[in-house]
Amino acid sequence: MNSQTISKTNEQLMLKCLKLLENWNQTDIPIAALIYNPQTDLIIAGAVNQKEIEIDPTEHAEIIAIRKASKINKSSNLTGLTLITTLEPCQMCAGAILNSKISKVIFGAWDEKFGAAGSVWDLLRDPLSPSHPEVIGGVLAEDSKQILQDFFKKIRKNKINNINISL
Ligand SMILES: [Zn+2]
Repeated sequence: MNSQTISKTNEQLMLKCLKLLENWNQTDIPIAALIYNPQTDLIIAGAVNQKEIEIDPTEHAEIIAIRKASKINKSSNLTGLTLITTLEPCQMCAGAILNSKISKVIFGAWDEKFGAAGSVWDLLRDPLSPSHPEVIGGVLAEDSKQILQDFFKKIRKNKINNINISL
């Protein structure tokens, strides 16, 4: 057996992240995040968006995953670790990524409204930013996008149904 650790590919990590969104029946927008240690080949934290369920606008999947990983690592410095998220991080999450000194960010779908990793803003690669993690966007983007589209379709359908009921 080869004793050398073989780290997972970006696609393999994204598939693991997408798994957290399987059979999604929550009121929150389906977005998931993982924190991965390429040195040990272990996923150390995972989280999903809980903004609505927690009634807290800071409860994005990336923030929760960073909090969990920091607690597990007993350090607020997550240098060397990789964050995987199904949707491009927003400004708040990009800020948390920079503060945590995460070394690499892999994301799925682009977010043309709030994306801060290349779409609307590019905080992670801004020359003024204190650190510059490696950023790989658009990994299995169609899969993440499909999950989001299915979710919004379901919401619209439920809204129409509700209107029909109230009539
Ligand atoms: Zn966010």
